[in-house]
Amino acid sequence: MSLSLPLTDISPLQFAVTQNPSPRSDAERAEILANPGFGQFFTDHMVQIHWSERGGWHRAAVEPYAKISLDPAAAVLHYAQEIFEGLKAYRHADGSIWSFRPDQNGLRLQRSARRLALPELPLDTFLASLRSIVQADAAWVPEGGETSLYLRPFMFASEAFLGVRAARKVYYFVIASPAGAYFKGGVLPVSIWLSTDYARAAHGGTGAAKTGGNYAASLLPQQEAYAQGCDQVLFLQDGYLEELGGMNLVLVKKDGTLVTPASDSILEGITRDSLLQLAEERGHTIERRPVSVDEWREGVASGDIVEAFACGTAAVVNPIAQLKSTDFTIELPVLGEGESLAMSLRKELTDIQYGRIEDTHGWLYRLDGQNR
Ligand SMILES: *Cc1c(COP(=O)(O)O)cnc(C)c1O
Repeated sequence: MSLSLPLTDISPLQFAVTQNPSPRSDAERAEILANPGFGQFFTDHMVQIHWSERGGWHRAAVEPYAKISLDPAAAVLHYAQEIFEGLKAYRHADGSIWSFRPDQNGLRLQRSARRLALPELPLDTFLASLRSIVQADAAWVPEGGETSLYLRPFMFASEAFLGVRAARKVYYFVIASPAGAYFKGGVLPVSIWLSTDYARAAHGGTGAAKTGGNYAASLLPQQEAYAQGCDQVLFLQDGYLEELGGMNLVLVKKDGTLVTPASDSILEGITRDSLLQLAEERGHTIERRPVSVDEWREGVASGDIVEAFACGTAAVVNPIAQLKSTDFTIELPVLGEGESLAMSLRKELTDIQYGRIEDTHGWLYRLDGQNR
Protein backbone atom coordinates (compact mmCIF):
# COMPACT_ATOMS: atom_id res chain seq x y z
CA MET A 1 0.00 0.00 0.00
CA SER A 2 1.37 3.41 -0.83
CA LEU A 3 0.96 6.69 0.96
CA SER A 4 -2.52 8.06 0.62
CA LEU A 5 -1.31 11.66 0.66
CA PRO A 6 0.83 13.76 -1.65
CA LEU A 7 4.20 14.71 -0.26
CA THR A 8 3.29 18.35 0.04
CA ASP A 9 2.22 20.06 3.21
CA ILE A 10 -1.56 20.13 3.29
CA SER A 11 -1.87 20.21 7.04
CA PRO A 12 -4.67 22.56 8.07
CA LEU A 13 -2.80 23.22 11.32
CA GLN A 14 0.15 25.58 11.02
CA PHE A 15 3.01 24.77 13.33
CA ALA A 16 4.37 27.80 15.18
CA VAL A 17 8.11 27.27 15.38
CA THR A 18 10.14 28.52 18.33
CA GLN A 19 13.83 27.75 17.90
CA ASN A 20 15.61 26.49 20.99
CA PRO A 21 17.66 29.50 22.14
CA SER A 22 20.30 27.24 23.68
CA PRO A 23 20.60 24.08 21.59
CA ARG A 24 23.39 21.62 22.27
CA SER A 25 26.66 22.70 20.73
CA ASP A 26 27.91 20.95 17.58
CA ALA A 27 30.57 19.28 19.71
CA GLU A 28 28.07 17.99 22.32
CA ARG A 29 25.75 16.70 19.62
CA ALA A 30 28.61 14.99 17.80
CA GLU A 31 29.64 13.29 21.03
CA ILE A 32 26.08 12.00 21.61
CA LEU A 33 25.69 10.86 17.98
CA ALA A 34 28.96 8.95 18.20
CA ASN A 35 27.39 6.63 20.77
CA PRO A 36 23.67 7.35 21.18
CA GLY A 37 22.49 4.01 22.57
CA PHE A 38 18.68 3.95 22.63
CA GLY A 39 16.20 6.37 24.18
CA GLN A 40 18.70 8.14 26.40
CA PHE A 41 19.30 11.43 24.63
CA PHE A 42 16.74 13.79 23.17
CA THR A 43 16.97 16.43 20.49
CA ASP A 44 16.64 20.20 20.96
CA HIS A 45 12.96 20.41 20.01
CA MET A 46 9.59 18.76 20.46
CA VAL A 47 6.17 19.04 18.86
CA GLN A 48 3.14 19.81 20.94
CA ILE A 49 -0.53 20.01 19.88
CA HIS A 50 -3.47 20.47 22.20
CA TRP A 51 -6.99 19.13 21.88
CA SER A 52 -10.12 20.07 23.72
CA GLU A 53 -13.68 18.91 23.29
CA ARG A 54 -14.71 22.46 22.46
CA GLY A 55 -11.80 23.59 20.33
CA GLY A 56 -10.66 20.38 18.64
CA TRP A 57 -6.96 20.24 17.67
CA HIS A 58 -5.24 23.58 18.14
CA ARG A 59 -2.00 25.28 19.22
CA ALA A 60 0.34 23.19 17.04
CA ALA A 61 3.92 24.12 17.87
CA VAL A 62 7.54 23.13 17.50
CA GLU A 63 9.25 24.32 20.67
CA PRO A 64 12.42 23.81 22.66
CA TYR A 65 12.53 20.36 24.29
CA ALA A 66 11.41 20.96 27.88
CA LYS A 67 9.69 19.45 30.87
CA ILE A 68 5.90 19.24 30.78
CA SER A 69 3.94 20.85 33.57
CA LEU A 70 0.90 18.76 34.49
CA ASP A 71 -1.76 19.06 37.14
CA PRO A 72 -1.35 16.19 39.63
CA ALA A 73 -4.97 15.32 38.90
CA ALA A 74 -4.26 14.89 35.15
CA ALA A 75 -6.29 11.82 34.17
CA VAL A 76 -3.36 10.04 32.47
CA LEU A 77 -1.55 9.75 35.82
CA HIS A 78 -4.51 7.91 37.33
CA TYR A 79 -6.29 6.02 34.59
CA ALA A 80 -3.56 5.57 31.96
CA GLN A 81 -5.50 7.07 29.06
CA GLU A 82 -2.42 7.19 26.83
CA ILE A 83 -1.23 5.95 23.43
CA PHE A 84 2.01 6.20 21.48
CA GLU A 85 3.83 5.36 18.25
CA GLY A 86 7.41 4.54 17.37
CA LEU A 87 9.14 5.01 14.02
CA LYS A 88 12.50 6.03 12.65
CA ALA A 89 13.96 8.76 10.47
CA TYR A 90 16.70 7.33 8.23
CA ARG A 91 19.48 9.34 6.61
CA HIS A 92 20.27 8.21 3.06
CA ALA A 93 23.70 8.39 1.50
CA ASP A 94 22.84 11.67 -0.28
CA GLY A 95 21.98 13.28 3.07
CA SER A 96 18.18 13.27 2.62
CA ILE A 97 15.97 12.08 5.51
CA TRP A 98 13.14 9.60 5.15
CA SER A 99 10.66 7.61 7.19
CA PHE A 100 9.17 4.23 6.41
CA ARG A 101 5.39 3.87 5.94
CA PRO A 102 4.57 6.66 8.42
CA ASP A 103 0.99 6.70 7.12
CA GLN A 104 0.62 3.26 8.73
CA ASN A 105 1.81 4.64 12.07
CA GLY A 106 -0.66 7.51 11.72
CA LEU A 107 -3.54 5.15 10.98
CA ARG A 108 -2.53 2.90 13.88
CA LEU A 109 -2.42 5.93 16.19
CA GLN A 110 -6.01 6.61 15.12
CA ARG A 111 -7.05 3.01 15.86
CA SER A 112 -5.31 3.18 19.25
CA ALA A 113 -7.07 6.49 19.94
CA ARG A 114 -10.48 4.95 19.22
CA ARG A 115 -9.84 2.09 21.66
CA LEU A 116 -8.61 4.42 24.41
CA ALA A 117 -11.44 6.95 23.83
CA LEU A 118 -8.93 9.61 22.77
CA PRO A 119 -9.45 12.01 19.83
CA GLU A 120 -8.14 10.90 16.42
CA LEU A 121 -5.30 13.03 15.08
CA PRO A 122 -5.85 13.66 11.34
CA LEU A 123 -3.32 11.78 9.22
CA ASP A 124 -2.04 14.91 7.48
CA THR A 125 -1.41 16.56 10.87
CA PHE A 126 0.43 13.45 12.07
CA LEU A 127 2.71 13.48 9.02
CA ALA A 128 3.22 17.25 9.34
CA SER A 129 4.23 16.76 12.99
CA LEU A 130 6.95 14.31 11.92
CA ARG A 131 8.26 16.63 9.21
CA SER A 132 8.19 19.56 11.63
CA ILE A 133 10.35 17.97 14.30
CA VAL A 134 12.77 16.46 11.79
CA GLN A 135 13.18 19.79 10.02
CA ALA A 136 13.92 21.49 13.36
CA ASP A 137 16.35 18.76 14.42
CA ALA A 138 17.73 17.52 11.09
CA ALA A 139 21.29 17.73 12.44
CA TRP A 140 20.32 15.02 14.96
CA VAL A 141 19.67 12.35 12.32
CA PRO A 142 22.82 10.23 12.47
CA GLU A 143 24.71 9.08 9.40
CA GLY A 144 25.92 5.64 8.52
CA GLY A 145 25.42 2.05 9.61
CA GLU A 146 22.00 1.17 10.95
CA THR A 147 21.65 4.40 12.89
CA SER A 148 18.50 6.52 12.92
CA LEU A 149 16.56 9.20 14.71
CA TYR A 150 13.82 7.43 16.66
CA LEU A 151 10.55 9.39 16.63
CA ARG A 152 8.14 8.97 19.51
CA PRO A 153 4.68 10.51 18.99
CA PHE A 154 2.38 10.16 22.01
CA MET A 155 -0.98 11.39 23.24
CA PHE A 156 -2.51 11.49 26.70
CA ALA A 157 -5.38 12.74 28.84
CA SER A 158 -4.23 16.02 30.38
CA GLU A 159 -7.52 17.10 31.93
CA ALA A 160 -7.41 17.56 35.72
CA PHE A 161 -10.39 15.46 36.75
CA LEU A 162 -10.62 12.34 38.89
CA GLY A 163 -13.98 11.18 37.63
CA VAL A 164 -13.69 8.15 35.39
CA ARG A 165 -14.59 9.16 31.86
CA ALA A 166 -12.78 10.07 28.64
CA ALA A 167 -10.83 13.28 29.17
CA ARG A 168 -12.00 16.49 27.52
CA LYS A 169 -8.44 17.83 27.29
CA VAL A 170 -5.64 15.96 25.57
CA TYR A 171 -2.03 16.65 24.64
CA TYR A 172 -0.16 15.22 21.65
CA PHE A 173 3.64 15.37 21.55
CA VAL A 174 6.46 14.17 19.36
CA ILE A 175 9.93 13.79 20.82
CA ALA A 176 13.00 12.44 19.02
CA SER A 177 15.97 10.43 20.21
CA PRO A 178 19.03 9.40 18.21
CA ALA A 179 19.50 5.63 18.05
CA GLY A 180 22.67 3.65 17.40
CA ALA A 181 22.71 0.37 15.51
CA TYR A 182 20.58 -2.11 17.46
CA PHE A 183 23.09 -4.86 16.81
CA LYS A 184 26.65 -3.64 16.97
CA GLY A 185 28.59 -6.83 16.33
CA GLY A 186 26.17 -8.59 13.98
CA VAL A 187 22.63 -9.76 14.72
CA LEU A 188 22.41 -11.78 17.94
CA PRO A 189 19.75 -14.48 18.28
CA VAL A 190 17.59 -14.23 21.42
CA SER A 191 16.25 -16.72 23.92
CA ILE A 192 12.58 -16.47 24.80
CA TRP A 193 10.79 -17.18 28.06
CA LEU A 194 7.26 -18.46 27.64
CA SER A 195 5.08 -16.73 30.21
CA THR A 196 2.40 -19.11 31.46
CA ASP A 197 1.41 -17.19 34.62
CA TYR A 198 0.90 -13.77 33.08
CA ALA A 199 -0.77 -12.31 30.01
CA ARG A 200 -0.13 -8.90 28.43
CA ALA A 201 -3.58 -8.62 26.91
CA ALA A 202 -6.95 -10.33 26.71
CA HIS A 203 -9.59 -10.82 24.01
CA GLY A 204 -11.56 -7.59 23.82
CA GLY A 205 -8.90 -5.74 25.83
CA THR A 206 -6.33 -3.20 24.69
CA GLY A 207 -3.71 -5.57 23.25
CA ALA A 208 -4.18 -4.30 19.70
CA ALA A 209 -3.69 -0.67 20.78
CA LYS A 210 -0.25 0.83 21.32
CA THR A 211 -0.89 1.96 24.87
CA GLY A 212 1.44 2.21 27.84
CA GLY A 213 -0.69 -0.07 30.01
CA ASN A 214 0.19 -3.09 27.85
CA TYR A 215 3.85 -2.40 28.52
CA ALA A 216 3.22 -1.94 32.25
CA ALA A 217 1.60 -5.39 32.25
CA SER A 218 4.65 -6.89 30.52
CA LEU A 219 7.33 -5.66 32.95
CA LEU A 220 6.93 -8.26 35.69
CA PRO A 221 6.92 -11.20 33.24
CA GLN A 222 9.94 -9.59 31.52
CA GLN A 223 11.74 -9.64 34.90
CA GLU A 224 10.80 -13.30 35.20
CA ALA A 225 12.34 -13.89 31.78
CA TYR A 226 15.62 -12.26 32.87
CA ALA A 227 15.60 -14.35 36.06
CA GLN A 228 15.31 -17.44 33.83
CA GLY A 229 18.31 -16.33 31.83
CA CYS A 230 16.18 -15.32 28.81
CA ASP A 231 16.21 -12.07 26.82
CA GLN A 232 12.54 -11.64 26.03
CA VAL A 233 9.14 -12.87 27.13
CA LEU A 234 6.55 -14.46 24.84
CA PHE A 235 2.89 -14.15 25.78
CA LEU A 236 0.17 -16.69 25.21
CA GLN A 237 -3.56 -16.69 25.33
CA ASP A 238 -5.33 -20.01 26.00
CA GLY A 239 -2.27 -21.92 24.79
CA TYR A 240 -2.00 -19.91 21.57
CA LEU A 241 1.01 -17.76 20.69
CA GLU A 242 0.55 -14.00 20.80
CA GLU A 243 3.70 -11.89 20.66
CA LEU A 244 6.64 -10.61 22.68
CA GLY A 245 6.43 -7.56 24.95
CA GLY A 246 7.08 -5.24 22.01
CA MET A 247 7.71 -7.40 18.95
CA ASN A 248 5.64 -9.69 16.74
CA LEU A 249 6.43 -13.34 16.12
CA VAL A 250 6.88 -15.25 12.84
CA LEU A 251 7.68 -18.95 12.33
CA VAL A 252 9.27 -20.32 9.15
CA LYS A 253 8.47 -23.82 7.93
CA LYS A 254 10.70 -26.16 5.98
CA ASP A 255 8.67 -25.61 2.80
CA GLY A 256 9.21 -21.82 3.10
CA THR A 257 5.76 -21.01 4.48
CA LEU A 258 5.71 -18.17 7.00
CA VAL A 259 3.24 -18.56 9.84
CA THR A 260 2.29 -15.73 12.18
CA PRO A 261 -0.26 -15.73 15.00
CA ALA A 262 -3.60 -14.01 14.37
CA SER A 263 -5.57 -12.76 17.36
CA ASP A 264 -7.55 -9.63 18.25
CA SER A 265 -5.15 -8.90 21.11
CA ILE A 266 -1.91 -8.68 19.08
CA LEU A 267 -0.42 -5.32 18.15
CA GLU A 268 -0.27 -5.31 14.35
CA GLY A 269 3.35 -4.43 13.61
CA ILE A 270 4.27 -2.52 10.47
CA THR A 271 7.62 -4.34 10.36
CA ARG A 272 5.90 -7.73 10.36
CA ASP A 273 3.42 -6.63 7.71
CA SER A 274 6.24 -5.35 5.48
CA LEU A 275 8.45 -8.44 5.90
CA LEU A 276 5.53 -10.74 5.12
CA GLN A 277 4.72 -8.72 2.01
CA LEU A 278 8.33 -8.96 0.82
CA ALA A 279 8.26 -12.72 1.44
CA GLU A 280 4.96 -13.09 -0.41
CA GLU A 281 6.43 -11.25 -3.39
CA ARG A 282 9.28 -13.79 -3.39
CA GLY A 283 6.67 -16.54 -3.69
CA HIS A 284 6.41 -17.65 -0.07
CA THR A 285 3.05 -18.68 1.33
CA ILE A 286 1.89 -16.58 4.30
CA GLU A 287 -0.43 -17.97 6.97
CA ARG A 288 -2.04 -15.61 9.48
CA ARG A 289 -3.91 -17.86 11.90
CA PRO A 290 -4.00 -19.05 15.50
CA VAL A 291 -0.81 -21.00 16.30
CA SER A 292 -0.55 -23.12 19.45
CA VAL A 293 2.61 -23.56 21.51
CA ASP A 294 2.30 -27.28 20.84
CA GLU A 295 2.41 -26.68 17.08
CA TRP A 296 5.66 -24.74 17.48
CA ARG A 297 7.14 -27.31 19.82
CA GLU A 298 6.21 -30.31 17.70
CA GLY A 299 7.22 -28.49 14.52
CA VAL A 300 10.72 -27.87 15.85
CA ALA A 301 10.99 -31.47 17.09
CA SER A 302 9.94 -32.90 13.71
CA GLY A 303 12.09 -30.47 11.72
CA ASP A 304 9.01 -28.92 10.10
CA ILE A 305 9.71 -25.50 11.66
CA VAL A 306 13.20 -24.33 10.76
CA GLU A 307 13.29 -20.71 11.91
CA ALA A 308 11.52 -18.34 14.26
CA PHE A 309 12.01 -14.63 14.59
CA ALA A 310 10.72 -11.59 16.41
CA CYS A 311 10.23 -8.33 14.52
CA GLY A 312 9.60 -4.66 15.24
CA THR A 313 10.88 -1.21 14.35
CA ALA A 314 13.79 -1.16 16.82
CA ALA A 315 15.58 -4.44 15.99
CA VAL A 316 13.81 -5.03 12.62
CA VAL A 317 14.35 -8.82 12.84
CA ASN A 318 15.67 -10.80 15.77
CA PRO A 319 16.14 -14.54 15.21
CA ILE A 320 15.04 -16.78 18.09
CA ALA A 321 17.48 -19.45 19.20
CA GLN A 322 15.69 -20.87 22.20
CA LEU A 323 12.21 -21.15 23.70
CA LYS A 324 12.09 -21.95 27.39
CA SER A 325 9.19 -22.60 29.74
CA THR A 326 8.65 -24.23 33.13
CA ASP A 327 8.36 -27.69 31.60
CA PHE A 328 10.41 -27.69 28.41
CA THR A 329 13.19 -26.01 26.46
CA ILE A 330 13.42 -26.13 22.69
CA GLU A 331 16.45 -25.09 20.69
CA LEU A 332 16.13 -23.73 17.20
CA PRO A 333 18.92 -24.16 14.73
CA VAL A 334 20.82 -20.91 14.26
CA LEU A 335 21.22 -20.51 10.53
CA GLY A 336 24.07 -18.65 8.93
CA GLU A 337 23.51 -15.39 7.09
CA GLY A 338 23.21 -17.11 3.74
CA GLU A 339 20.67 -19.75 4.82
CA SER A 340 18.35 -17.74 7.01
CA LEU A 341 15.17 -16.42 5.39
CA ALA A 342 14.69 -14.09 8.37
CA MET A 343 18.09 -12.49 7.80
CA SER A 344 17.59 -12.23 4.08
CA LEU A 345 14.23 -10.45 4.56
CA ARG A 346 15.86 -8.22 7.16
CA LYS A 347 18.47 -7.17 4.65
CA GLU A 348 15.93 -6.41 1.95
CA LEU A 349 13.83 -4.31 4.34
CA THR A 350 16.75 -2.31 5.75
CA ASP A 351 18.12 -1.80 2.22
CA ILE A 352 14.78 -0.17 1.32
CA GLN A 353 14.69 1.90 4.51
CA TYR A 354 18.22 3.23 4.00
CA GLY A 355 17.73 3.86 0.29
CA ARG A 356 20.25 1.23 -0.82
CA ILE A 357 17.75 -0.41 -3.16
CA GLU A 358 14.79 1.00 -5.03
CA ASP A 359 11.58 1.60 -3.10
CA THR A 360 9.18 -0.08 -5.51
CA HIS A 361 6.28 -0.05 -3.01
CA GLY A 362 6.14 3.69 -2.32
CA TRP A 363 6.93 2.96 1.32
CA LEU A 364 9.37 5.82 1.87
CA TYR A 365 8.22 9.29 2.86
CA ARG A 366 10.58 12.22 2.81
CA LEU A 367 10.82 14.20 6.04
CA ASP A 368 13.40 16.90 5.37
CA GLY A 369 12.53 20.12 3.63
CA GLN A 370 14.13 19.75 0.26
CA ASN A 371 12.72 18.40 -2.94
CA ARG A 372 9.06 18.39 -1.97
C1 LIG B 1 5.12 -1.45 18.47
C2 LIG B 1 4.88 -2.87 18.80
C3 LIG B 1 5.21 -3.92 17.92
C4 LIG B 1 5.98 -3.71 16.63
O1 LIG B 1 5.36 -2.84 15.75
P1 LIG B 1 6.21 -2.16 14.57
O2 LIG B 1 5.21 -1.32 13.88
O3 LIG B 1 6.71 -3.25 13.73
O4 LIG B 1 7.30 -1.40 15.22
C5 LIG B 1 4.86 -5.20 18.27
N1 LIG B 1 4.26 -5.46 19.45
C6 LIG B 1 3.94 -4.49 20.32
C7 LIG B 1 3.26 -4.85 21.59
C8 LIG B 1 4.23 -3.16 20.03
O5 LIG B 1 3.91 -2.20 20.91
